[in-house]
Amino acid sequence: MINYPDKPYDNWSQFLAAVWKHGMSKGNMDPQVAKFRAFRAGEAMGDTLTRSNEARYIRPSAFLSCARQTWFMRQGFAPEPMPENIGLTFAMGHAMHELSYAAVESALPSCFKAEFEKEVDLPDWWRNAVPESAEHGHIDCLITVEDEEEAAQYLELNGNHIILVDFKTMGGYTSREHKKKDFAVSPDAFGYLSQLAIYASTVHPDQVLLTGINRDQLTAELMPRSVALELLDNERERILQALTCETDPCKEFLERWEKKAHFYCGKGGRKGYCPFADRCEATYCED
Ligand code: SF4
Repeated sequence: MINYPDKPYDNWSQFLAAVWKHGMSKGNMDPQVAKFRAFRAGEAMGDTLTRSNEARYIRPSAFLSCARQTWFMRQGFAPEPMPENIGLTFAMGHAMHELSYAAVESALPSCFKAEFEKEVDLPDWWRNAVPESAEHGHIDCLITVEDEEEAAQYLELNGNHIILVDFKTMGGYTSREHKKKDFAVSPDAFGYLSQLAIYASTVHPDQVLLTGINRDQLTAELMPRSVALELLDNERERILQALTCETDPCKEFLERWEKKAHFYCGKGGRKGYCPFADRCEATYCED
């Protein structure tokens, strides 16, 4: 367990980064917890490497960042397949998630409760709009303050008692961007905020931390960043619109983010990341 700091951490981001680092440091991880999480990681890695990863449904984690992607999925079009060798990237993601859970569980003081891969009922607004979706989802980590007086010795709580933590493994470039990104004016191309908007509407946290793990530099610090709840409220409204609109939203994403969208859409001669880039290009909406 992490020791009392000389002075309470200023915020949850600093505290979580310190807890994770302590838990990951030599001799600090609880051996039972480490074994359990390593076993879970192994199972998830095996599944990922042996199963087909092709997506067939809109999910909280996929096809929501751009309304036209959502539209194509609703029309029954298949996304372009992921690279054949993507399994290793996903497998490493599972390992880093599970080991991060082990670090946090080992180092978090007992005045906090942490739940990992917490199963939650997806909200009614989502299930009504996506009836083919699963009824449940999983939140990476939910931390709750159990003993306010003691918790206040570790960090300035400022009224934040329920914290939703979502871990994302990131390469070096994305990590650098994540650390300085203003979420209000940066495209959420990979749908991180979309996913958080859905989960935040199930557990109503006081704070949401989008937390990067640098997979290119494993000794780097953890990167928790707080995402404003108002931003997630707006995102939820936008998702609902994308899930229920009756006509092709055409350039919605491009108009929302202008040139900043090109990196993801694959414009200007680049490959991009959108699984509907070819279809989008071939059915370009004229003004
Ligand atoms: S290419 Fe860009 S605008 Fe077109 S569907 Fe993909 S993300 Fe949306």
